[in-house]
Amino acid sequence: MNNIEPFEDPIYVTQPILPKLENLVEKLKEVWGSKRLTNNGPQHKRLEERLCDILKVPYLSLFNNGTIALIVACQSLRLTGEVITTPFTFAATPHVLTWNNISPIFCDIDPVTMNIDADKIESMITPQTTGILAVHVYGTPCDVKKIQEIANRYGLKVVYDAAHAFGVEIDGKGIGTFGDVSMFSFHATKLFHTAEGGALTFNDKNMKDRVDLLKNFGIKNEEEVMMPGINGKMNELQALLGLEVLGLVEEEKKKRRNIFLAYSNYLNGIEGIKICNNNSEDVNHNYQYVVIRVNEKEYGVSRDYLYTELKKYNVHTRKYFYPLCSSFACYKHLFSSIPANLPIADKVSTEVLCLPIYGELNGYVIQNICNIISDLKQ
Ligand SMILES: *Cc1c(COP(=O)(O)O)cnc(C)c1O
Repeated sequence: MNNIEPFEDPIYVTQPILPKLENLVEKLKEVWGSKRLTNNGPQHKRLEERLCDILKVPYLSLFNNGTIALIVACQSLRLTGEVITTPFTFAATPHVLTWNNISPIFCDIDPVTMNIDADKIESMITPQTTGILAVHVYGTPCDVKKIQEIANRYGLKVVYDAAHAFGVEIDGKGIGTFGDVSMFSFHATKLFHTAEGGALTFNDKNMKDRVDLLKNFGIKNEEEVMMPGINGKMNELQALLGLEVLGLVEEEKKKRRNIFLAYSNYLNGIEGIKICNNNSEDVNHNYQYVVIRVNEKEYGVSRDYLYTELKKYNVHTRKYFYPLCSSFACYKHLFSSIPANLPIADKVSTEVLCLPIYGELNGYVIQNICNIISDLKQ
């Protein structure tokens, strides 16, 4: 038994990339000089261009946050009726459907990737189904090929919630090029951020034009309003912060990769603790999360016990994604929410735990967290 003292300062699951304040102040002078604070200003244009390059997508539209972006994505594709999605995600995913007057239909997940199980989608399609909203959970790509085949066969639209998948690539192709539209979140807790923010990506220029109208009240020019749009615009201060953060993402990713490897190394051999490693050879991963799965039978105690005990050491892990969205008060009445219909998601949500990962995380802290996990084994 190691004699480990609780950490003096709380260790949270993540910390945002923070650029040097001096650099930010310099850029702010530029914005002040331009006297433009929003509405497609120079910082906004620059960030859209840079992100198209980095994410390897033909078209991208910035937003004030990822949730509004996803609401607009559904609007732009004119989705109605029912959309098949996953219960193993953040609340925003099904909420976006509800805000579009669409019923979320929860489909079970794959036991390994923890993404929507493409083999189970087809059986959930009804005459009301208009689309599939899949999530690249923890940045692991969905089975994009199979999902597209199903969509093509049934004439469905495909939307990806890529909030976790900034910079992820499959065979060198940007993750945002799959499906009809993908959403990225630039919330402060994500790898790349603009404090709050997000983007949609598309292959089709017409989609970009339509979305740019929708996020600005549907206004085409001073006298023409084309559609009932919303205010989803990213402002110049967010865009400026984004441009500064962008310069630090590659370094952050390298550090996180090493942190992931350190965790893998220390946790290797603790029976009942498995670090999720879905880095297949064709996928360029982003290390936004480090996730373990606790097998209670082998480890001796439950995920919840481990979570609570770690908290006593001032280590604040997160149970992403527990509880399942299908169990929320607003969704549990749905037929597809019955736990018996979602056996894999139900089980996985009791096993997962997200451990702290951010560039500044000290190697000694990682080692101690792993020692605590090792000591808690029964
Ligand atoms: C963060 C997140 C969102 C929401 O993004 P915001 O930018 O915070 O609105 C949506 N889906 C998933 C899976 C997320 O993790």
